[in-house]
Amino acid sequence: MAKKNDIVVEIKDIFGKLTIEDLQIKGKAVFIRADFNVPLDDNLVITDDRRIRSSLPTINYAIDEGAKVILASHLGRPKGKIDPKYSLAPVAKRLQRLLNKEVMFAPDCIGSQVENMVAKMKEGDVLLLENLRFHPEEEKNEEGFSRSLSKLADFFVNDAFGAAHRAHASTAGITKFIPSAAGFLLKSVIEYLKGVVDNPVRPFVAILGGAKVSGKIGVLENLANKVDKVIVGGGMAYTFIKAMGYEIGDSLVEPDMLDLAKKIMEKLRNNNVKFYLPVDSVIGQSLESSSDTKIVTNQEIPKGWKAFDIGPASVKLFNEALQDAKTIIWNGPMGVFEVDAYSRGTYAIANSVGDAYAMTIVGGGDTDYAIHRAGVSDSISFISTGGGASLQLLEGKDLPGISALTDKKA
Ligand code: AMP
Repeated sequence: MAKKNDIVVEIKDIFGKLTIEDLQIKGKAVFIRADFNVPLDDNLVITDDRRIRSSLPTINYAIDEGAKVILASHLGRPKGKIDPKYSLAPVAKRLQRLLNKEVMFAPDCIGSQVENMVAKMKEGDVLLLENLRFHPEEEKNEEGFSRSLSKLADFFVNDAFGAAHRAHASTAGITKFIPSAAGFLLKSVIEYLKGVVDNPVRPFVAILGGAKVSGKIGVLENLANKVDKVIVGGGMAYTFIKAMGYEIGDSLVEPDMLDLAKKIMEKLRNNNVKFYLPVDSVIGQSLESSSDTKIVTNQEIPKGWKAFDIGPASVKLFNEALQDAKTIIWNGPMGVFEVDAYSRGTYAIANSVGDAYAMTIVGGGDTDYAIHRAGVSDSISFISTGGGASLQLLEGKDLPGISALTDKKA
């Protein structure tokens, strides 16, 4: 079967910011902000290390170039306090295995002890700092804390796409003090997401899902004059269906979004964008596994029942709409895919996107998870795990972690 990768899409250098390759890092200390915010089980074992793996190209490059590599990240939400549950120690161990070399681990991310450790580093050494968010100043983007971080290194490299929509000390504040560049991961996500949205091969289709319209409204508004088709599934679809005047039983609805939903549909119509909503649903009275499920058309959702997934006719309809797509962006599940009885719609769309002869970009944690569980991740052109950051980019907004980097011409 033809793979989407057979389609050659030219990704232009739209970045305009310094990248790690522009820096002379040999013998220099380089502070790399990575996104090592990995899931851990109760025994603090990493259950999915993809975020660590996705920063390896930047880390390996820095090692090979002979830099002193200082790595920093947040993990979870320790709320500005030291909490062993959120220590990056398990990440140090996993990194050591992935890099096949020693990874030193610092007990903090600033201070004289860490500075001493850095002073002893040799070219190619790797040091991971403890969780940045053990300090409340990190999320407050506090200047003194940013300065303390910057004191550790000659250069700053941001490779944490998942945190790029936050103006924190380690993503934005530090850039005031040392030359700052993007890592390979950060650069490639931006080039894919921004490049494809600004310059898509058409037809360009956006598939949006997830719980609420309010979470995706900015994306819909921004994409309304860029895409050829919009497919909406998941809980958010029912606000649109209700706005069209249908009864939707007790399905999820955002009453304060009904007017906006109408306006968006009008805007899409005026822009000649084809808009697809589910035509049938898998419904239940609750999410309990013992609870009955039925498949009904959306005209026939009874009171007391909730639509938890798109139905088979909707899958067919959406597949038809995807047939000629050359570019597909997908963000948000088609139903409550965490529950088996309501997961088929999401997995069916995952398979269709996987099979499509198109450039395919998947963003958001849930969608990324569904793609992996459906086993089609290898046939997706680009998967971005940074949910908030990718949504913000799709909304057409700048990301503080990227705007703060040093401009190329400078
Ligand atoms: P979001 O974070 O907005 O992308 O929403 C993701 C969540 O939406 C997932 O946890 C899904 O379980 C949930 N979801 C998807 N479809 C529905 C639905 N029809 N009703 C209620 N929740 C839904």
